[in-house]
Amino acid sequence: MPRRVAAAQISHETNRFSAVATDLAAFRASGLRQGAAVLDDAAGTNTAFGGFLAGAAAHDLDLVPLVSVWATPSGVVARDAFDALAGMLTGGLRAALAAGPLDGLLLALHGAMVTEDHDDGEAELLRRARAVVGPATPIVATLDLHANISPTMVGLADVLIGYDTYPHVDMARRAEEACAIVARLIRREVRPTPVLVTPPMLPTSQNMTTDRDPMRALIAHAHRLETDPRVINATVAGGFPPSDVVDAGLSVLVTTDGDPGLARRLANRLAQDAWHRRDGFLGGVATFDEAATLLRDLPLGATPVAGPTVLVDIGDNPWTGSPGDSAELVRFLLAERVRGAAVALVADPAVAAAAHAAGAGAHLDLSLGGKTDRRHGDPLPVRAAVGALSDGAYVNEGPMMAGVRVALGPSAVLVCRPPDNPGAPGVEVLVTSRAETPIALNAFRAHGIEPTERRVIGLKGKGHFRAAFGPIAARIVLVEGPGISGADLTRLPLAQVRRPIWPLDTGARFDPSDAFDR
Ligand SMILES: [Zn+2]
Repeated sequence: MPRRVAAAQISHETNRFSAVATDLAAFRASGLRQGAAVLDDAAGTNTAFGGFLAGAAAHDLDLVPLVSVWATPSGVVARDAFDALAGMLTGGLRAALAAGPLDGLLLALHGAMVTEDHDDGEAELLRRARAVVGPATPIVATLDLHANISPTMVGLADVLIGYDTYPHVDMARRAEEACAIVARLIRREVRPTPVLVTPPMLPTSQNMTTDRDPMRALIAHAHRLETDPRVINATVAGGFPPSDVVDAGLSVLVTTDGDPGLARRLANRLAQDAWHRRDGFLGGVATFDEAATLLRDLPLGATPVAGPTVLVDIGDNPWTGSPGDSAELVRFLLAERVRGAAVALVADPAVAAAAHAAGAGAHLDLSLGGKTDRRHGDPLPVRAAVGALSDGAYVNEGPMMAGVRVALGPSAVLVCRPPDNPGAPGVEVLVTSRAETPIALNAFRAHGIEPTERRVIGLKGKGHFRAAFGPIAARIVLVEGPGISGADLTRLPLAQVRRPIWPLDTGARFDPSDAFDR
């Protein structure tokens, strides 16, 4: 007899300093599905529900889909939106229970959601779900690698499972792992004893990708722990500083089978490993002057021999909560008169609409980007030739979130030049109506630009771009324009983060006895 297990995804990474509202419309824009529709197109995708489907088949679970929703990282989640989404979760659970007993609940959460009423959004979701299913029904949840894991979350779930990858290419695999664990919990084969250790570390994520140390070594350490049959899961979460909550920062969560002492020893050792490697999270960002020198040294051929130079502005990364409307990268490329450059993207719905109204081939004098707030640079005056026009819809070819539909709204490729210098080299800019971090090559290809044939590819991002753009890049250069998503935490008026904390405070010290177990 298959075991009946409900499943839901409610995911948001909240940047408290974002001026972009996170209302129900924002969630609907990224995709909101309820009931059976959650499973439409999910099979085979590298997503939570792609993994829940595969895991349910492997472990004989009868999946009851409730709701699936996420939104592009943005500001604090509005009260109405949170209550509506939480209501879809609890309402779905009640309806499922009315139809028959539930053996478990699977959740795909982020771990850095902040709402108007709740600094720990995931804890509140878990609290409301737990209130419906009761204390005996196992709840297993996946968390993003950038989760700020809190003791409250640990106390409310049976097992929490963090992603092991950044770029996050294991969303489906971790969801499958959740299915395997919930099946063991239903059979009462294991009794989870989690211990959470939070060294006072607040790393930013530009060096946090799991293809390099220190995170590569820390994830390898966690995987070594998981080879012990007494260990159910070992998670290292890098944390998300701009959510500005008391629990923001790196955390280690080790869940053993009925052995809290072992969990404490292993979690402390792994947290000490992270603490000792902490300086490896620093740096990795070039100045614009250094980037200019590198670009001047590039050969001038029409097609790059070894692939494009990929230039990434981490200051305006939509998937860290920036608006994606900074024009600073374009400003820099125009000032440096860089040839063969293409940028994805600048979110500017007014400019995209103007381009659509004028039509392909038209020339427009425009003020590009910099309109959402005063933290991401000024609008950039350009003379633009309108190129390809599109509805901004394409399917991610992966590897991250392969198979997922992207909807950027009416979009246009604009070949931009300085208004006072029509003979200068043009920079191709993908202007969209909505902001997302471009993580697939077809962000360009869907708009008629072949990225391997450009000398310079400009991106907004932090780490996720590496999954697709790393293999085609001759060189990757990170720069930090103005914005709320970069490596410079002194730009953010952090008020809730616990202090002292590294790297902000020289007095931060790690005491491994400071562990939480349930
Ligand atoms: Zn993440």
